[in-house]
Amino acid sequence: MQASKNTLDVEALRQHFPILTRQVHGKPLVYLDNAATTQRPQMVIDAVRHFYEYSNANVHRGVHQLSVEASEAFEAARRSLAQFINASLDREVVFTRGTTEAINLVANSFLHDIQPGDEIVITHMEHHANIVPWQLLCQKTGSVLRVVPINELGELDLLAFEQLLSERTRLVGIVHVSNALGTVNPIERMCQVAQAKGIPVLVDGAQATPHLKVDVQALGCDFYCLSGHKMYGPTGIGALWAKAEHLEKMPPWQGGGEMIQHVSFSETTFNDIPHKFEAGTPNVAGAIGLKAAIDFIDSIGIDLISAHEQALLSYAHAELSAVPGLRVIGQAPEKGPVISFVVEGAHANDVGTIVDHFGVALRTGHHCAMPAMQFFGVSATARVSFAMYNQIAEIDVFMRALDHAMGMLRS
Ligand code: PMP
Repeated sequence: MQASKNTLDVEALRQHFPILTRQVHGKPLVYLDNAATTQRPQMVIDAVRHFYEYSNANVHRGVHQLSVEASEAFEAARRSLAQFINASLDREVVFTRGTTEAINLVANSFLHDIQPGDEIVITHMEHHANIVPWQLLCQKTGSVLRVVPINELGELDLLAFEQLLSERTRLVGIVHVSNALGTVNPIERMCQVAQAKGIPVLVDGAQATPHLKVDVQALGCDFYCLSGHKMYGPTGIGALWAKAEHLEKMPPWQGGGEMIQHVSFSETTFNDIPHKFEAGTPNVAGAIGLKAAIDFIDSIGIDLISAHEQALLSYAHAELSAVPGLRVIGQAPEKGPVISFVVEGAHANDVGTIVDHFGVALRTGHHCAMPAMQFFGVSATARVSFAMYNQIAEIDVFMRALDHAMGMLRS
């Protein structure tokens, strides 16, 4: 799939994504909404389809052949994900519906004994998925949310971060790559600071796993959350990675089938990890599709993907920065392939609606990061976000569409 050792053959790569051949409003689709969800390669679609056509059965229950095959495929997906993020043990991977559910699991289980006055530290650039679960917990328990400030570039104030950590801090929650600003946060350094004080760190990795090599052991975090659909896999599947020592001690969050060892009306004993946290029938097809997505990423190489996306980011950043009256929101030196911007005199939604008529799909709104929007004094931005299959030529189409939109909205 590679044109040379150092570059991607993007034309060849695009052939794997059937949706990229479609037209929108009579124009070729230019899909620049990858931070919301990526497209799926044929391999992923085929893997899900094959499962339903050939091996569909429930997992961990049956002795019959189909159930054995389904269970093996499900556990192979766990193994594959563990390797992808360099977990030391497969059983440290708990399948969830996605990042949101993974964070809620930690809030409800790891912090089940949080006390009034205990603190949870998050940052000003978090996605609502890494704000609201903690807020709900604080409301229920009298614990307190503390927020690390950001600067005008969209970087975290690391000095303030260190000062916010106290003996009351029970957990730190940080986004690895911001979906609204693009900022890549210095997770390794922040984990060192927190861990020197014995404070566990949860990382929201939803926007990191598709774009950069994630090694949970090297990062030094305690919890890592991810979503399959952001990394070319199916919707409704994701994972919580957690150190085994935490999972062993954490009480189950949801009760039901699969997560038990023995049930009577007087007492229930729980299954081993990770099954203790996977109540009910899991998303077997989703996990199988996620494994296919990981195989696909691995077949290309995350470093090549990353280099290609960074080239797209630099090009688009230079183009957008040259537009009079356009302001890029989030200018950290280290960014994922995401650019948020506002246009003087035009609402982001109108920009998005007009460029859609040129076949360009981009995101407009608050990107589920209202506090970050408030910091920059805007209610909404337009956002382009890139994936492995995007091309410079598509950015040119987008820039022409944007020019047209600005002309229309300002006249
Ligand atoms: N965190 C970040 C940074 C995200 O971008 C998203 C998805 N937009 C989420 C969390 C939530 O992911 P999901 O909806 O897949 O649970």
